Order: sequence, then structure tokens, then C-alpha cells
Amino acid sequence: MECTPTRKLERIPLLLRGSLGHFIDGAMRAPCAGRHRAVVDPATELTIAEAADGDAEDARAAVASARAAFESVAWKRTRPADRERMLCRLSELVLANGDELSALETLQGGKLRSVARRIDVESGAEFVRYMAGWATKLEGQTIDNSIPLPGRKWVTYTRREPIGVVAAIVPWNFPLAIALWKVAPALAAGCTIVLKPSEETPLTALRLAELAIEAGFPAGALNIVTGGAEVGAALAAHPDVRKISFTGSPETGKRVGHSAVDKLARFTLELGGKSPAIVLEDADLDEAAEGVCAGIFLHQGQVCTASSRLLVHRSIRDRLLDRLVRAARALRIGSGFDPRTQFGPLVSARHFGRVMAAIERGRDEGASLATGGARCGEAGWFIEPTIFVDDSAATSIAREEVFGPVLTATAFDDVDEAIRLANDTPGLAASVWTTNFSAAHRIVPRLHAGIVWVNSHNVLDNALPFDGVRQSGVGREMGRASVESFTEIKSVCLAV
Ligand code: NAD
Repeated sequence: MECTPTRKLERIPLLLRGSLGHFIDGAMRAPCAGRHRAVVDPATELTIAEAADGDAEDARAAVASARAAFESVAWKRTRPADRERMLCRLSELVLANGDELSALETLQGGKLRSVARRIDVESGAEFVRYMAGWATKLEGQTIDNSIPLPGRKWVTYTRREPIGVVAAIVPWNFPLAIALWKVAPALAAGCTIVLKPSEETPLTALRLAELAIEAGFPAGALNIVTGGAEVGAALAAHPDVRKISFTGSPETGKRVGHSAVDKLARFTLELGGKSPAIVLEDADLDEAAEGVCAGIFLHQGQVCTASSRLLVHRSIRDRLLDRLVRAARALRIGSGFDPRTQFGPLVSARHFGRVMAAIERGRDEGASLATGGARCGEAGWFIEPTIFVDDSAATSIAREEVFGPVLTATAFDDVDEAIRLANDTPGLAASVWTTNFSAAHRIVPRLHAGIVWVNSHNVLDNALPFDGVRQSGVGREMGRASVESFTEIKSVCLAV
């Protein structure tokens, strides 16, 4: 294994501006309390920017800006076709600024530049373009009624109206893509937004807000407050925020959900998982090995749907493991700026500590280490791609989300056992690997998951609703379900 900490840095205008502010009402604004927080490059541990560390007062200012924009005559007069056009323009601008945006993602989050470009920039832009189309396709219904009041005729119909001010709170793993999953449908529906990126990765959100202005959105339609729990909690609790769209950990998600319920606001929670990959006896082993390996090691396993729990038929366990261990050891570790790199650092010192502690616990509890498990290099938060074997499936490493490059393999003897093990997880995603499609069709309905892949893992489509069931969340992103979740239905009953 080799570490290549070298990187080629372009000039990034955002980083040349000194201490950064929030983006409120169309302009950078210094944080009320004057606090800043370092943004650190996880590949080198060097500080790359000082971002505003917001508080409740900053949150209030951002919500006031979003509310004023929502209530403005200009925004109320915005036609769906105008919002469609602005979103199409925003999509183009994200692509046109893809070099800068992907470099910022690699700098602040350690992601491979190619992954940042493919997922945050290209898929993100494509998603905005897809959502642009929904702005002109939201519709109510005319409904035949049976109102038993004589002497009058009644006309009844529904309207879909924007819900109001939205707070979007997002994590650090795909900062731009996940922000766009919330910003684009909210704007398409006619809402205005305050977006709070993770304190670890605030930079692309700030550039996105500038691009939204360039795309024609009025000041206040998209506001950014940066900072941590304090500002996130203040946003979630603010009485003028009518919907909270949250992606992050289950613990924080539950807190956000409580805040929403306390004021009876709408909310969606997109939370964590421990997604199983079930490999049946008849699977194509090479295809399964490649898919499971990509599924767990993409972005160093810091993916909510990572295939972190391998359930493999006992008869093929050793052959599959052999392939996986070889693939894991062959991954070239280094800086995300080096085009030869296949595997980068974890996002932060804090997260590195959490993942190393999970690995330690796995060892202590008796899971057997097949490969990896150690830090790589002296600078930067690199951990080797790691594979454990635990046939008891009882250790914490087999059961709990690590959100890092750690796969745990468990053998099963029959499909019922595989399904029982697979369903003993929060419920985000699952994959089934088999050449027997009738077996796949029988298994899919039995899995507790928001999305199930067959012979693939981590494949998303803008039109396909995405996210979890049970402990993995509430609500859906992507597709029609997403944009409709930013609307309220108003029923109208007209006596004529
Ligand atoms: P986190 O819950 O620590 O933070 C998420 C966001 O919430 C951050 O912006 C953070 O500043 C903010 N926050 C923290 N405390 C808050 C509070 N009290 N009130 C309001 N906001 C608060 O999660 P993370 O470590 O950034 O992300 C990792 C988690 O996200 C993992 O569990 C992962 O599975 C999950 N995730 C889920 C999806 C999905 O679509 N289901 C996608 C990506 C990540």
C-alpha cells in the first residue's frame, strides 16, 4: 500500500477571501458573534479556510431573509416556468464551475476528485435539471363531490402550494449532492430555504448560494448558515421554518424530529444504515466481489448505503472473501487530488477516531480481521480498507454503522437465515447477488429496506425515490415524492 500525499491545487477564489461569512439575503455576512471554525484538509491536516461558526442569532437572520423572500410580491409572482428556467441555469452553472466545486470537495472532505466530479458535480447538476422539470408539473386535482346540501352546486378541487420556509441540514459525506437533493425540489416547489452544511464541509454550499444568485434566484431564496449543532438546533426549532429536511445520524435526526413535532412542522429524516449485501450460492462471484468492494469502499465507506454487511452463502464464503481481500489490498491509497488514487482519507480527526475505536471494539469482541485495520501514513486521516469475518453476527462491528471503510462478512446456510440477518439492520438499503431472478423476486418483498438492488449496489436514479424505512428515516428524496414533500395540499370547496 502506498500513500501519496501530493496534490495539485488550482487557485480557488473562495479560499482567497479570508475568513468566510454566512450567505444571507444575497450576500456574505459576518457571523453575529464573530466566531470562526477551521476547515481542515483531511489528507494533510492543514487548515484551508476559516468558516463562520454560527449561532442562534445567525439562524434567525437567515430565516428572516428566507421568510421575507417567500412573502415578497416578486417571489409570489414567480411562475413555475421561471423557476424551471432558473433551476436549469443553476444546473449549467454547477457544471461550468465543476473544477472549482470538485476541488473544494476534495480539499474539505478528502474525497477523490473523480468521485467529487461524478457524484457531487455531475450527478448533482443532473438532479437539479431533473427537478427543474417538476416546477411546471405540480398539480392539484378536481374532485367529484357528494356534498348533501340542496339548492347549491359545489365545485371541489385541490391545489399544491409551497410549504414556506425550509431548513435543510446536511452531512459532510456528499456536501454538494445532498444539498442539491434538498435545494432543487424546495425551489422547484416555490419554497425558500436556509441550508446548513456540516461544520466539516461548508465550502461548496457557500459557492452554491452565489451560483443561485447568478442563475437568477432573488436574494433570500437560498441562504446558507454555517456552523455546528447550535445553529442546526436553532433552525430546527425556529417557528417560521415550516419544513425541516435533514440528512445525518439517527441521534441528531431524532432531535430534529422532536423539534419539528413540537411546532407541528413537516420533516423528512434521511438517516444511517448498515446495508446488507446478500450473496447467494449461484451468484457470479467476480461480479459480486467487484460490486461489494465498490459498495463498501466508495468514499472510504462514508456512504449511508455502503454495503458494510456482507451476508454470503457458506459454500462460497472463502472464494468470495479471497477476492475481496485481494481487491481491498490492491486499492491505491493517497490524496484525492492524485488521479491514480483509489482510496482517500476519512473526513476528520474526530471521525478517524470513531472508526478506529469501532475497529478496536470489533477485535475485542472476537471478530476476526481478514485485512486492514490500521492507520496508513503519518499525516492525514487514512485507514486501510478493512474486512472482518464474524459468523456470529453478534459483534458491534457486524451490527452497527461504522460509516468508514469496514466490511464485516457473515456466512449463512439458507435464504431464511440470510433474510433474518439482513432485516436485523436499520432499514436503509440492501442488495441481492444472484443469477436466479425468481429467487431475487421472492427475496425483495421480504427485505426491510427503502431501496433494494439486484446484482448492483449504490445505483441511484433521479426519478426513483430514495431513502430508508424503520430506523433509517422518514420520507423520501428524489423523484416526484421529493418535490411533493415541499408542498401542502389545500382543498377548495366552492359554492356556485
Ligand atoms: P450528524 O448527525 O452528526 O450531522 C448532520 C448535520 O446535522 C450536520 O450539519 C450537523 O452540524 C447537524 N447537527 C448536529 N447536531 C445538530 C442538532 N442538535 N440539531 C440540528 N442539527 C444538528 O451526521 P454526520 O456525522 O454529519 O453524517 C453521518 C451520518 O449521516 C451517518 O449516520 C450517515 O449514515 C448519515 N447519512 C444518511 C444519508 C441518507 O440519505 N440516508 C446520506 C448521508 C449520510
